[in-house]
Amino acid sequence: MFFLLFNRGKSMKQKNIPERWPDLKINKTKVAKIKGFLDEREAHCLYKLTVNASKTGPCLEIGSYCGKSAVYLGTACKENGSVLFSLDHHTGSEEQQPGEEYFDPELLDQETGKIDTLRFFRKTIAEFDLEDTVIPIVSHSEIVGRTWQTPLNLIFIDGSHAYESVLNDYKIWAKHLIIGGYLLFHDIFPDPAKGGQAPYKVYQIAVASGLYEEMPLCESLGILKRKK
Ligand code: MG
Repeated sequence: MFFLLFNRGKSMKQKNIPERWPDLKINKTKVAKIKGFLDEREAHCLYKLTVNASKTGPCLEIGSYCGKSAVYLGTACKENGSVLFSLDHHTGSEEQQPGEEYFDPELLDQETGKIDTLRFFRKTIAEFDLEDTVIPIVSHSEIVGRTWQTPLNLIFIDGSHAYESVLNDYKIWAKHLIIGGYLLFHDIFPDPAKGGQAPYKVYQIAVASGLYEEMPLCESLGILKRKK
């Protein structure tokens, strides 16, 4: 049942990478082995935006999973001597639980019977030499948000895709974004046939706030730039 609610757009075709990318020193073969739901073009867009944003301060991603997006975000932060906070409880989203559409048995901790993505995440961060840049925060968004005070230059929302969760992530974190910073949403599907609608609904709330300049989508990556 979670498929309709949380569909991450798995059927989306991988598009060819546009001709010109910044000089990206990430090993493509190595990165392709990381579990995750990130389109290659989206990954490059994330990287480009983060190279720009991290010049002036730290960035945050919500939903680390096994670290695929953290490689792109983190590599960009590292180039500027900045840091990436990567927030996840690491026990998997609703649709990643046993019996659900995106369940991966390899992620199941045999001892606890629970999903555990942290060991995969740590391995990824170590393999890509990002331990000096990526700061894992193993907790829930609302707990960390309670006392958070650090201004953020880029926020990538890609945690639970349940409507209330996406809305909470937006409400908790967007207020910490600096003017000129980027608010990014993964899995934005204006066409309901292509994927779940929760992130798109929250994205539309953000657009309607008038606080952001709406930029063209990069595949399913929604890009908003804070203007006031
Ligand atoms: Mg996603």
